[in-house]
Amino acid sequence: MSTERIFNFSAGPSMLPLPVLEEAAAEMTNYRGTGMSVMEMSHRGKAYIEIFEQTKADLRRVMSIPDTHEILFMQGGATLQFSAIPMNLIGKTGKADYAVTGNFSTVAMKEAKKYGEINIACSSEDRGHTYIPEQKDINVSKDASYFHYCSNNTIFGTEWKYIPETGDVPLVCDVSSNILSGPLDVSKFGILYGGVQKNMAPAGAAVVIIDKKLAGNEHPLTPKLMSYQVMIDSDSMNNTPPTYTIYMLGLVLKWLEKQGGVEAMAKLKVERSKYLYDVLDDSKMFIGCADKDARSDMNVTFKTSSDELDAQFIKEAKAAGFDTLKGHRVLGGMRASIYNAMPVEGTKKLAEFMREFERKNV
Ligand SMILES: *Cc1c(COP(=O)(O)O)cnc(C)c1O
Repeated sequence: MSTERIFNFSAGPSMLPLPVLEEAAAEMTNYRGTGMSVMEMSHRGKAYIEIFEQTKADLRRVMSIPDTHEILFMQGGATLQFSAIPMNLIGKTGKADYAVTGNFSTVAMKEAKKYGEINIACSSEDRGHTYIPEQKDINVSKDASYFHYCSNNTIFGTEWKYIPETGDVPLVCDVSSNILSGPLDVSKFGILYGGVQKNMAPAGAAVVIIDKKLAGNEHPLTPKLMSYQVMIDSDSMNNTPPTYTIYMLGLVLKWLEKQGGVEAMAKLKVERSKYLYDVLDDSKMFIGCADKDARSDMNVTFKTSSDELDAQFIKEAKAAGFDTLKGHRVLGGMRASIYNAMPVEGTKKLAEFMREFERKNV
């Protein structure tokens, strides 16, 4: 098997740990003596139910998820949750608060407007989403059914360094691009959710971690597969779940625990991003897009003074084995997405490449 892998900086789907891919490959055609691939198993059969239950138990342990909260696997990625959240929760008061700090929180807010009255509790749009608002600038409505924010802004490269204080209003957080990157007090949240294709598994599922007392108030026209109560009651198996994606998540969790769990991930992400931010801080050519105190350890966004130089950098980087560094079309420039599976070596080498590029192109 070829181990000549490149450093893939894709924002998602993104790198998976090599040992996980190798284990999946070894088990591909005959999973532990069952004579079949996990892909070919009935989701109701004994072998698969074991994988499913183990994955759930492992996620609960790794994230220290309390018994008050249920773990759901749903389809439609994070984006379908933008609709499911208001459909399930907004009925309580007809109102919800949204913090708008980037692309996905804007999309989520716009979707929620179909279902009720939305208060924009804070926004970073005035400075192009380069920063995260402070607590004192957040207007929480006392009668909001929930408060929604996105803790890591994948496209703009900013990350909330604190959990907003919202009193009795339940917190709902899109953690698509920083879930499992460090310890998190799950009990503070009504709902944590994310598409799995950034930091957890291949694409095909959203993980929803929900305080069970928030379920059961959905709008009557909520499709049953989007009803949190239906999903809780059926243990995410009202219909066929994304079986292989969940199996892969199980392998990723096993790998992650072997590395030292979320505490180890929290250390590694700083080590990884520091190589790149040190270059940006020293450079006369590369400019970081986000304010220093809001910079994400998962998505590093930067540019040069010209689109032509950006394009040249992306092209030369690709030829040198640093793939998918082109920034999102919304922001332009470059973006290095450096989730848990990116070896520290990847950003160290990219930092060296950037310094060398600058030396050659002054
Ligand atoms: C990628 C991403 C999404 C969209 O995820 P899908 O699973 O493609 O719907 C939403 N929110 C954040 C923060 C993301 O990074």
